[in-house]
Amino acid sequence: MENVAIIGSGCAGLTAALYTARASLRPLVLTGTQPGGLLTTTTVVENYPGFPEGIGGYELMAQMQKQAERFGARVKFGTVEAADLSKQPLVLTVDGEPVEAETLIIASGASHRHLGLESEQKLENKGVTYCAMCDGALPIFRNQPLVVVGGGDSACEEALYLTRFGSIMYLVHRRDALRASKIMAERTLAHPKIKPIWDSVVTEVLDPKQDKVTGVRLKNVKTNAETVTACAGVFVAIGLIPNTQLFKGVLDMDENGYLLPRRGSATNVPGVFVAGDCADHVYRQAVTAAGMGCAAAIEAERYLAHRD
Ligand SMILES: Cc1cc2nc3c(=O)[nH]c(=O)nc-3n(C[C@H](O)[C@H](O)[C@H](O)COP(=O)(O)OP(=O)(O)OC[C@H]3O[C@@H](n4cnc5c(N)ncnc54)[C@H](O)[C@@H]3O)c2cc1C
Repeated sequence: MENVAIIGSGCAGLTAALYTARASLRPLVLTGTQPGGLLTTTTVVENYPGFPEGIGGYELMAQMQKQAERFGARVKFGTVEAADLSKQPLVLTVDGEPVEAETLIIASGASHRHLGLESEQKLENKGVTYCAMCDGALPIFRNQPLVVVGGGDSACEEALYLTRFGSIMYLVHRRDALRASKIMAERTLAHPKIKPIWDSVVTEVLDPKQDKVTGVRLKNVKTNAETVTACAGVFVAIGLIPNTQLFKGVLDMDENGYLLPRRGSATNVPGVFVAGDCADHVYRQAVTAAGMGCAAAIEAERYLAHRD
């Protein structure tokens, strides 16, 4: 029986692990398919306090894990497939095996939203990707025109990153102005290799018949005019979906699936706490996720101290 099981090994999960480990609770961290979480997909993190020169996303997460492990946290590669929170002990199914726990901290983050096109699905990993940091340097994208879809900070970051590899980056956005922060939008639009395509949506990724990306079919949402833009890669950066499907109907969540804690990080189920981007659609930062992980850990510790 675990004192504390933690779903997720991003900033929220590993900070919760650090705090509960220092409280001698020997937490079990279940990594999911992305050990270290979303931050491992970025190069330099410049806004995490304590690193005046910035720190690599992967390095930051590796250090966080090491710090938690130093105090007794156990980090296990595994994905939670089901959760029975109806009674104590709470039971998770992790890669087919049951794990019993007295408390659970859900820090499962959020995943990339897809365009929802059949052609996108067919060409995923064949030129359609959701992470420039992970895939941008692949030979198929070198010196080729590339399309980035989206208008927020992530889309801008993806487009800027890709300027190292592609010949031109078309930034396709459904509105006529970027949603990104002012500094990011200015930096993006000032880049000579980035060309915005406003008021447009991707209706088809070409060409599934050739089993590779050759272009995108675009529709102007104001004029309905259709055009085709040739490209070798499509980088989709249109937001995130919280990884909370396991808890639908069990834990309180908003209409987009973000968990809604009742008081602090406590949920409507005793012993179950939440932290990080799975419960935060507003701030979505490493430091806020870490702060929420700390809060959830303290609440779990208090719950264990005061239970019957
Ligand atoms: C490209 C990019 C750049 C960014 N740059 C910055 C930056 O510079 N500064 C900043 O502050 N923020 C940045 N962010 C945001 C930051 O990465 C997130 O806010 C932060 O990672 C959220 O942490 P989290 O722990 O809540 O979730 P995540 O980091 O998303 O971690 C979620 C974890 O849950 C696991 N998981 C999911 N489902 C399951 C399951 N069923 N079973 C087990 N485990 C599961 C995943 O494998 C993962 O380990 C960036 C994000 C992106 C995408």
